[in-house]
Amino acid sequence: MSTTTETKRYPVTHTDAEWRKLLTPEQFHIMREHGTERAGTFYCAGCEQALFASKKKFESGTGWPSFNDPVPGSVDTTTDRSWGMTRTEVNCSRCGSHLGHVFDDGPPPTHLRYCINGVALNFKPE
Ligand SMILES: [Zn+2]
Repeated sequence: MSTTTETKRYPVTHTDAEWRKLLTPEQFHIMREHGTERAGTFYCAGCEQALFASKKKFESGTGWPSFNDPVPGSVDTTTDRSWGMTRTEVNCSRCGSHLGHVFDDGPPPTHLRYCINGVALNFKPE
């Protein structure tokens, strides 16, 4: 076992090898490794520039993909004053496509929360 914490005993137990036979690779990852997403990279749907790595994605509770650390240089930000609010708009630095907005209530160390529209992204698993 790689874990040092005490393992709770369940009525149904299997070794990892047995679980791998019972479950698809994706089910195994989600159900047995507590994975929430497959590792991979999100690319701009407009120009295929790599924007975010999925391991940096976090659950914001908004239902939108949220990230706190874009690939360096991949996004530009502009101030968006539409709808009577001042928000910071996020654009692809390569093709200028609108991706979403960035807020300053994210987790450390950046405290930024990039709230990106899923339709602007193409996901490629590693
Ligand atoms: Zn782009």
